[in-house]
Amino acid sequence: MNAQTGIVHLVGAGPGAPDLLTVRAARLLARADVVFYDALVHPETLALAERAEKIAVGKRCGKHSTLQRFINKRLIDAAHKHAVVVRLKGGDPMLFGRAQEEIDALQAAGIQCEVVPGVTAALAASADLKISLTRRGMSRNVTFVTPRVGAGEDASDWIRSACDADTAVLYMAAGQAASIASTLIDHGLPADMPVLIVENASLPQMTTLATTLDALRSISERTTHGGPALLMIGRVFQRELDAQDAMSVDDAVRELLAIPLSA
Ligand code: SAH
Repeated sequence: MNAQTGIVHLVGAGPGAPDLLTVRAARLLARADVVFYDALVHPETLALAERAEKIAVGKRCGKHSTLQRFINKRLIDAAHKHAVVVRLKGGDPMLFGRAQEEIDALQAAGIQCEVVPGVTAALAASADLKISLTRRGMSRNVTFVTPRVGAGEDASDWIRSACDADTAVLYMAAGQAASIASTLIDHGLPADMPVLIVENASLPQMTTLATTLDALRSISERTTHGGPALLMIGRVFQRELDAQDAMSVDDAVRELLAIPLSA
């Protein structure tokens, strides 16, 4: 390995709130020469990288995206120029963040890399809601799963994982909430199963919608303000549903969307 090359650190930025960053991540950002950051990283977190050149390589579905191969190459090039390269990713860098592609590319290029974990969105939402995802007597397991299917993957895998879980947290799923609800009922989940849609977990503008799979499958409107959102499914969310069930899900969606984004 070339002694001149720097180290690339894959760093978790946490779910959004800047004070949910680890101390290790904050120290690395302060030392960073260059930071490649995702779309969901909070400006205050980025500001910790006082001396670094900051480069946006964000990917949000349907919006501008930088090809993964191109990001890999930029990380390798940066490590040939700088001692401390940070690749800052939302939540935990190893969950649904294509970290493995970056690690593999760096290792193939002989570049050292380190990973700093972060608080993933599901755990931030659990904390905000004060609902344990493994509540005793109700849930012995929690599954983090995405319906986003990559090339060569089988769509039924995510369905099986979501149906088998006591508590399922679906990432990158809120945009297709109605069709997901209908798929899961078709595959055997009870129609009265509680579902929470949690948008912007950990941030002041967080919103929550409680519903059932059955009600969700007939929803025609969007169910979020366009921020990052999770679908959380399981009996542990029954309490939230009971608190809201006087309202029809359509009314709840309307009320939710009437809340301005900056609330
Ligand atoms: N590595 C990230 C996940 C990246 S995939 C993590 O560990 O959290 C992006 C998806 O994460 C979004 O589509 C959304 O489902 C979820 N997400 C990220 N931040 C979120 C937040 N603050 N609130 C709710 N969901 C969030």
